[in-house]
Amino acid sequence: MKAARLHGPEDLRIEEVAEPEMPDASQVLIRVGAIGICGSDMHMYGTGAIGGEEIASPMIMGHEFMGEVLELGEGARDGENRELKVGQRVAVEPACPCYRCECCEQGHPNLCPNHTFYGVYPTDGAICEKMIVEARNCFPMPNEISDAGGALLETLGVAIHAVDLGKLKLAYSVAVVGCGPVGLLIMKLALLMGCRDVYAFDKYEWRVDLARRWGARNAFRIEADEGVDLLMKETDGRGVDVCFEAAWADESVQQSAEMTRYGGRLVLVGIPPDDRLFMRHATVRRKGLTIMMARRMKHTYPRAIKLTSGDNPQIDLDEMVSEIFPIEKTAEAYAKNYAYAEGVQKLVIQP
Ligand SMILES: [Zn+2]
Ligand SMILES: [Zn+2]
Repeated sequence: MKAARLHGPEDLRIEEVAEPEMPDASQVLIRVGAIGICGSDMHMYGTGAIGGEEIASPMIMGHEFMGEVLELGEGARDGENRELKVGQRVAVEPACPCYRCECCEQGHPNLCPNHTFYGVYPTDGAICEKMIVEARNCFPMPNEISDAGGALLETLGVAIHAVDLGKLKLAYSVAVVGCGPVGLLIMKLALLMGCRDVYAFDKYEWRVDLARRWGARNAFRIEADEGVDLLMKETDGRGVDVCFEAAWADESVQQSAEMTRYGGRLVLVGIPPDDRLFMRHATVRRKGLTIMMARRMKHTYPRAIKLTSGDNPQIDLDEMVSEIFPIEKTAEAYAKNYAYAEGVQKLVIQP
């Protein structure tokens, strides 16, 4: 079967690899239907390394995905402990925590230090035709969610977790710095939760347009640090109750701290390319900010599915998909995403 494997920095190749064997008891074999390309993939693609460690052998990329169940291991049960069936379309949560450590036992499997993660070295990801995954990671999807939308449930799950950490209240004001897929979804969720004044900032015009279309009270295209002044003007110098940083966590972190009101809450979602965080101590100390670091998600797929299905879906994930590529063109899709080519919001591969 075909698979897209990363060999080193910006070196992604479509190769023939062996088909997976039969699934074990707790696993299922799926035919992969769609995979989203994520900002976090870009770190690995650009450097050929993860957390400073170089990948030592070629690995299959892709952690946002869905597929169709082809074969079941004995007694395979899904993420909500229900029986799985052959032919079901399932969205697959990429993290496999150990369920045994202190973090897992205390209800924080997203922090499990013993976890593996599909598409993060050394575990192969989903840009291939068939794949074996843990049954517990599978969440059956209703028909009204498209294949591409199913892949993006991962992104929505991350956004839901970030919003949980924001502890939003009715009529709160919110700023979102960075309107990539996660930032945009955070913005939408804040509106759904009854926040009144939601402001969005990004350096790309097409993302700002999308934020406006999705209901931001005001969305600004910013080059550098002018966002703080713009927001202070909008809020009469008060700042917002909660600010989400969902960009690349560079100077945007300090800006986000400056946008947050005294006693407010700052949620950091973006991942800095150089593994460093810059924030002026006086800004956050004087304001007594509560700072939350978002790490992946915990059991948010069921809520993500509810929000995107049923009679009245509240979020249309397909609206975020800017282009769909066949697996043969994965390298082109990655290069396009890496270059932040005009109009790129979410790129999807369909094997
Ligand atoms: Zn992702
Ligand atoms: Zn664990």
